[in-house]
Amino acid sequence: MKRVKKEDTVLVSKGKDRGRTGTVRIVIPKENRAIVGGINVMKRHMRPRGPQQPGGIIEREAPISLANVRPVCPSCNKPVRVGYRVLADGRKVRYCKKCDANFD
Ligand SMILES: [Zn+2]
Repeated sequence: MKRVKKEDTVLVSKGKDRGRTGTVRIVIPKENRAIVGGINVMKRHMRPRGPQQPGGIIEREAPISLANVRPVCPSCNKPVRVGYRVLADGRKVRYCKKCDANFD
């Protein structure tokens, strides 16, 4: 079970976007990284490749290490640590260690 999932809001705790929040677009478990909307944006200079791709400067989010983000709790709206627990129906969910609300 992953600490951070797609659609989560996360707070960046390290790097140039420290202190900013964004929504997780893609999690890359193999690399322990995620792509977060508006975070870690890289400018890429593209060469024109014909009429369909005119080139220019393209801004793209680069993956950021999951070690540098903390999930923001949807209930208490704070960056928190998450725990895991198993519900009565057998579902495993994440919960907020601060306010005890379930994440999923
Ligand atoms: Zn909470």
